[in-house]
Amino acid sequence: MSTPLLELKNLSRIYPTGDQPFRALDSINLKIQAGEMVAIIGPSGSGKSTLMNILGCLDHPSEGSYLIDGQETLALPNEELARLRRNYFGFIFQRYHLLSHLEAIQNSEIPAVYAGSKKSERRRRALDLFNRLGLGDRTHHLPGQLSGGQQQRVSVARALMNGGQVILADEPTGALDSKSGLEMMKLLGELHHQGHTIILVTHDANIAAHAERIIEMRDGRIVADRENRAPIAKTQTTEKPASNRTTAGDTLQALWGRSCEAFRMAGFAMASHRMRTLLTMLGIIIGITAVVCVVALGQGAQQKIVNDINSMGTNVIDIIPGKGWGDFRASAIHTLAPGDLEALKTQPYVDSSTPSLSSNFLLRYRNVTASASVTGVSEQYFRVRGLEIDQGTIFSAAEVKELAQVVVIDPNTAAKLFGDNESPLGKVILLGHLPCRVIGVTEEKESPFGNNQNLNVWIPYTAAMGRLIGQNYFSAITVRVLDGYNNENAENAIIQLLTGLHGSQDFYTSSSDTILKTINKTTATMTLLIAAIAVISLVVGGIGVMNIMLVSVTERTHEIGIRMAVGARQSDIMQQFLIEAILVCLLGGIIGILMSYGVGMVFPLFVTSIKMKFSLLSIVSAFACSTLIGVIFGFLPAKNAARLDPVQALARD
Ligand code: ADP
Ligand code: MG
Repeated sequence: MSTPLLELKNLSRIYPTGDQPFRALDSINLKIQAGEMVAIIGPSGSGKSTLMNILGCLDHPSEGSYLIDGQETLALPNEELARLRRNYFGFIFQRYHLLSHLEAIQNSEIPAVYAGSKKSERRRRALDLFNRLGLGDRTHHLPGQLSGGQQQRVSVARALMNGGQVILADEPTGALDSKSGLEMMKLLGELHHQGHTIILVTHDANIAAHAERIIEMRDGRIVADRENRAPIAKTQTTEKPASNRTTAGDTLQALWGRSCEAFRMAGFAMASHRMRTLLTMLGIIIGITAVVCVVALGQGAQQKIVNDINSMGTNVIDIIPGKGWGDFRASAIHTLAPGDLEALKTQPYVDSSTPSLSSNFLLRYRNVTASASVTGVSEQYFRVRGLEIDQGTIFSAAEVKELAQVVVIDPNTAAKLFGDNESPLGKVILLGHLPCRVIGVTEEKESPFGNNQNLNVWIPYTAAMGRLIGQNYFSAITVRVLDGYNNENAENAIIQLLTGLHGSQDFYTSSSDTILKTINKTTATMTLLIAAIAVISLVVGGIGVMNIMLVSVTERTHEIGIRMAVGARQSDIMQQFLIEAILVCLLGGIIGILMSYGVGMVFPLFVTSIKMKFSLLSIVSAFACSTLIGVIFGFLPAKNAARLDPVQALARD
């Protein structure tokens, strides 16, 4: 005798129930040859379904061995068992177990999807089967729109999809009326004639009478195994079963086909729970919107500050007494003196330089008085600061030397003292008690820090020192570095020079370069901080996604069981749920990005000083981030789904 197709040796299935393990199958020995039609009968609870599940590689035996085509299955990994299910077996269940949201023909195609056959190929085969089974006009009906007999025929088509060399039918007529039941038995008989091996479970002796071999079970044991001499379905093997066994299971194209199925299922799952999906996404949407907006705002603000500083001139170095900002002993340091200025002027890297000392004074012109900041500077001040003159002139080097009582005023002061109609040029105003002639008005200059309402008056520093403030040292010296000269080198040279002159470094320097660096660093830190908060909200969103995915897995346990029974690998199930989680997050991410663009459009209506600056990098990172969240938070639910036990999953409703 040839190797039996299926062989059980001393096989037991023990359920660890309660205090005493329960032997649902007890030392079963059974051989089934290819092409046989076997009926398994026995009272309810005798272990028929347990046996069927083990035969179909849905369940593992506890003891003994099970050989398919002479190959031991006991130690096979799950992926290999899934392959056996796909390639050898076709299940027909009492309750059909069709996926209610898929069309009849899509239901029958599932095994081929997991086997990796081409879309056009599997559709052709499905249509062929539907026509043979008399379902030609029912292809696009949902299971709920079909009668029980029709649904059972769809499940037969599904069982035959990959060839169905062995058909395992567990009470296939149990839920059918007697007429449909008879038709089903006729169909199974025909399949038997075509060479399929049929194993049929029933508790109905009339149904069992169709088989050529009847096995009787009781309490997990085989109590009888006899030949049926006059089977209603006569044996006459005419042709081999049309095997559709495909080896394409692991090609790239097959992988693509399976991914498409996973995508379709994910899309379907999301569409069938729109509200829930949207609420789940909300966390991601808010998080992504926040991240993208914050980054855009931060970059916009930084850009603005940088622009403002650049407009002030990047190559200016201030020399200030003391050890740094806010050094309270700085006021006691009086070493910054005209000698320093002279020394600096001779340096090769100096374009222009100016000292400064300032104080507040009451200005008076006729009957108008106003408080202004009066700064003593040299004639080069206006070049150092990039201040343009609107009317008149600036004071000359000679006037500086002579302690001339001349001033240049800013437009605020001009407007305050002279109004719109009177020209300030040539007019004499009082700075405190010192009469000075106005010789120039500067151009309006936009301040980087908002509109400046201060009144500014500039006077030769000699006059300020000798006639006005009465101090013989400077509050600061400002140097404009020659264009093209390295700012840092110049700064170092200045420090060296003045330290030499003073005997110690009792001053510090501040260049717009260092300010720029500080600002860049500060804004980067701020952006990082706020982004960290936004990331926390993304994580919270991700936990929401995980929560819903866990619910989704629980809800669809039955579906997972069906998919596994028809040959889905654990990895297929995993992929399906992972893709769903990623899709939810990715869609949330896209909506979030669109929302932040929306914010970017509305924003200028309220705030004009700062523009939001969206960068490609932040968009790409947002995409990457949301995908990553999907992967991370979808992983656990997907793994849970993939590790479900097929038998238990199927039993769930
Ligand atoms: P049948 O299909 O012949 O009616 P089953 O194979 O479904 O019987 O069950 C055989 C026995 O095993 C029954 O007594 C049942 O209670 C028990 N059984 C089935 N599944 C489980 C399980 N998962 N855990 C514990 N006992 C089980
Ligand atoms: Mg049963």
